[in-house]
Amino acid sequence: MPNNKNASVIANEKINDTKVAKAAKIILDLQRQLKKYISKGYGPFLAAVYDSNGNLIAKSANNVVSKSCSNNHAEINAIKLAEKKLGAYDLSPYNLSLYITSEPCMMCLGAIMWSGIKAVYYGVPSDIVTKTTGFDEGFKPNWPNEFKKRGITVYGQIEMDAGKKVLQDYVTQGRTIYKPSK
Ligand SMILES: [Zn+2]
Repeated sequence: MPNNKNASVIANEKINDTKVAKAAKIILDLQRQLKKYISKGYGPFLAAVYDSNGNLIAKSANNVVSKSCSNNHAEINAIKLAEKKLGAYDLSPYNLSLYITSEPCMMCLGAIMWSGIKAVYYGVPSDIVTKTTGFDEGFKPNWPNEFKKRGITVYGQIEMDAGKKVLQDYVTQGRTIYKPSK
């Protein structure tokens, strides 16, 4: 059962406590690993693709800065690795879930939609990411509802306090807030 830290969880289906508990475990672990990635120069986001038996298929942190590539977000990197590993541009038959330390940005929503990922679980919501870091997550009108129409389950705001702390530390450490200048 989820603890009260997950009382704020939102979903685009009737909330399933077993799914929340499983996702909370994975996302807390990703938040812990993310601190190590940040110390190595990665951006403050980590994503992992799992199959329905709980096997890790692919995992990646954001490496926009180190690879000089604006679309190297954690979600896109992880999806690309999963597709390469499985030799498939359509992941639908594999019934895969994407776990992310923060809510996907507008670019990653498109990448997720095109990939055939069946479920998305995220930690920190975009408004808190933006407030905490200054990253612009984009405009995303009612995307969980749009995903529902396409058969993609969404759960969010899982263990978000732990995730917010990692983002705050990233800022406190004076690391790069990468975005286009105006
Ligand atoms: Zn993104």
